[in-house]
Amino acid sequence: MNRVPVDALAANQADVIRTSGQQSLPKRTYRLRMLGMGLATLPLAVVMHELQSSWIAWAWMLLTCWLWPHLAYARAIRSKDPFRTELHNLLIDSAIAGSWVPLMHFNLLPSAMLLGVTTADKVSTGVRRLWLYSLPAIALSVLGFGLLSGFSFAPHTSMRVILACLPIIIIHTLAVSMSSSRLVRRVQKQNHQLEELSRIDALTGLSGRRHWEAQADAMRRRSADLPGLSLLLLDIDHFKEINDQYGHSIGDDVLRGIAGLIRRQLPSGSHAGRLGGDELAIVLPLPLSEVEIFAERIRRATSELAFPEAPGLTCTVSIGIVGQPDPAQGLREWIEAADRALYGAKRGGRNQAISAAG
Ligand code: GH3
Ligand code: MG
Repeated sequence: MNRVPVDALAANQADVIRTSGQQSLPKRTYRLRMLGMGLATLPLAVVMHELQSSWIAWAWMLLTCWLWPHLAYARAIRSKDPFRTELHNLLIDSAIAGSWVPLMHFNLLPSAMLLGVTTADKVSTGVRRLWLYSLPAIALSVLGFGLLSGFSFAPHTSMRVILACLPIIIIHTLAVSMSSSRLVRRVQKQNHQLEELSRIDALTGLSGRRHWEAQADAMRRRSADLPGLSLLLLDIDHFKEINDQYGHSIGDDVLRGIAGLIRRQLPSGSHAGRLGGDELAIVLPLPLSEVEIFAERIRRATSELAFPEAPGLTCTVSIGIVGQPDPAQGLREWIEAADRALYGAKRGGRNQAISAAG
């Protein structure tokens, strides 16, 4: 049934849906299907009783409402691709709902309710356009079962059938909403965790670039309330050569070592981050004169760093410092000013800190 379009849909969206909290689609659908199909028995039984339906219709009801949810779940969990199989199961649900419309002689309320509930189930999976692909399944099923049962037409809904419809309308709708809200909460939690991860640079444990920029910009904006404000850019000297000579993982040790000593000596209220590669940045709520002393401490401590796995290795850093930012300029200009000072330190022979006015 609709094999090609559903497979194409699954291929396009499976990864997205799987990674957004719907890995357990068969399990989640199993509970809702048991509930929905179980509650649907009530209006179906009342309508069939009113129509004096044959035993075949009663058997079909038992098969579709009581047996099918378990068969569908067994199919999905035994499948090599439970997600894709569950999409097919959902289309079979629609075909089953469609079959009941002619079998109930188009009794208006239960027919509309079954088709509405089954289509809403497709929408609530989050798989885009799945509900659209369910429409041909419904139409074919209405046509096939209509031909088998003679297309009898009795749309009037009695009060007894209306009452029998209420449990599925109320309980199933609430259950689907609760299940969706659980999913939303899970996705929100995962988003929060992802955001946390993106804040920290995995190698150095310092802030990642974007997070650092946000912190630096926030400090720049409230610089009037601070005792001073300076920006320090630090770049490892000849880092490429260190990588080439000692290997990339020793290069990583160097980055981690320098970041570690910065973290240990960071004045309170300061934020350190990795801008990328071998370039680190620190924003400090201190006047330039104090940051120069801090920079000198970092520079000297770096040159004294020892690496047990590379005994002969020593490394140095160049540092550019800039003081209070010009209020008329943005973060970018402030970083550029520090970068010019850093370039001066490199040009002046490396292993030194150079200050510039903001
Ligand atoms: P300079 O003194 O002029 O800064 O020379 P340099 O060799 O440090 O020059 P450059 O900034 O161009 O080189 C940075 C090198 O850092 C290049 C890249 O291979 C290396 N690198 C970037 N990210 C990482 C990393 O995460 N780990 C390691 N080990 N190396 C990295
Ligand atoms: Mg470098």
